[in-house]
Amino acid sequence: MSRTVYVNGAFVPEEAATISVFDRGFLFADGVYEVTTVLGGRLIDFAGHMARLRRSLAELAMDAPADEAEILSIHRELVARNGIEEGMVYLQVTRGAADRDFAFPPAGTKPSLVLFTQEKAVSDNPAAEKGLTVVSVPDQRWARRDIKTVQLLYPSLAKMEAKARDADDAWMVENGLVTEGTSNNAWIILADGTIVTRPRSEAILHGITRSAVLRLAEEAGHRFVERPFSIEEAKGAAEAFITSASAFVMPVVRIDGAPVGAGVPGPLSRRLRQIYIEEARRTAI
Ligand code: PLP
Repeated sequence: MSRTVYVNGAFVPEEAATISVFDRGFLFADGVYEVTTVLGGRLIDFAGHMARLRRSLAELAMDAPADEAEILSIHRELVARNGIEEGMVYLQVTRGAADRDFAFPPAGTKPSLVLFTQEKAVSDNPAAEKGLTVVSVPDQRWARRDIKTVQLLYPSLAKMEAKARDADDAWMVENGLVTEGTSNNAWIILADGTIVTRPRSEAILHGITRSAVLRLAEEAGHRFVERPFSIEEAKGAAEAFITSASAFVMPVVRIDGAPVGAGVPGPLSRRLRQIYIEEARRTAI
């Protein structure tokens, strides 16, 4: 069934949606995005996604396309028009359409704003019972991964390499240390129960789910440390998992073919998933 999408001020059927061939998102990947998960027809951590969008726009000196109240109402309208109970809302802002030039377009060029929905079972995801397998690949992305840009070609290639190696996803490695997954943050749990994830820097995306899980883990009395780890350390860990807005907390059971712990989703990863989903349901707007 055709969806209703939002393009630059109008709600239109997806077949009728158009964007200029001169759009800088198309020509230069000069755009940023956010993905907000919908659970029970409501938005999870919307404020967190808006804060990161503001930051991405500021880092790239890009104008905001609309104020946050308007962006929230567009999200809600799309969820309602498309009858989304579970899934996501994708939002993309680009620097707009202008003659092709490496220099930014003149001040006042209107940014483009596109949103669409995608239906997906997120809370009852069978992958959470089975766990994911990951393989390591070199991190060949640019050096400002903290900005959520639409230039996702390398993560897409890494995902294809994972599939070719019969795995679900790839963990990217730089200077011997895991940065993150292709579209998620990477975590391990040590034998003594300490939860480990890489600290925020320009090397990784500052995951909204990552922040929530750190807060919830601390509130539940779990020890955690923010430091990088290697693939070798991860293979020897008791548990491993990834976090993202759409995967929530998802156990990782194999790394480069080696089982992590018992090779099945670990108890603390499962618990953190449960805590996260309960909190997400409780606070969704
Ligand atoms: N890291 C990367 C590279 C991502 O693309 C994503 C999500 O798309 C994440 C981490 C997780 O971020 P969030 O929890 O905000 O979805």
